[in-house]
Amino acid sequence: MQQPIKTEPGSTPGLTAAKRPAIFLDRDGVLNVDKGYAFSVSDLLIPADVPSTLAALKKLGFLLVVISNQSGIARGYYTFSDVHVFHDALQMELNRIAAVKVDTFFICPHHPDGIIEELRQTCQCRKPGTKMIFDAVRDFNIDLEKSYLVGDKPTDIECAIRAGIPGIQIVAEAKYGRHPNATAYINTFSEILSVISIKSSAN
Ligand SMILES: [Mg+2]
Repeated sequence: MQQPIKTEPGSTPGLTAAKRPAIFLDRDGVLNVDKGYAFSVSDLLIPADVPSTLAALKKLGFLLVVISNQSGIARGYYTFSDVHVFHDALQMELNRIAAVKVDTFFICPHHPDGIIEELRQTCQCRKPGTKMIFDAVRDFNIDLEKSYLVGDKPTDIECAIRAGIPGIQIVAEAKYGRHPNATAYINTFSEILSVISIKSSAN
């Protein structure tokens, strides 16, 4: 006998669930202070305005989707398991501080110069490649036209442009230079709220 197919809200993209906009979030330098190949929970430092801003974004109806290049896995600096532990700790802190959680994490573990053979490749997911965005759109029924990306590197903004969405660059530490075509440059994460409201009222 055929088993009934269990359906959860949102589990049949495009059929029953309404599309939802997303904020695509780079991780290091956005949600946590970029310490360079961070993987140890002791390296997890969340800027003060991040939890409450994520909660505000969620209240506005955005899905929170992390898209993170984690070439440290291909390079042999740390493992998938380390990344999962780090993300669990991040979720616990966000939940503790502002009762909010990231909806899902997409990571790219590859790098063309990696030492882990199966991860040593030129892939479509490493930003500025857009595969993580389009995988999320497929899996979570995301309304790309109402979505945004926030990142701190020019390659994050390039990824947004290739995906056809506004790219907001955090430039406070001025580590990486500005992408010339970012939709907005912000100094702290919470400024995303005014960028979004400006764009919404302009539409
Ligand atoms: Mg970053």
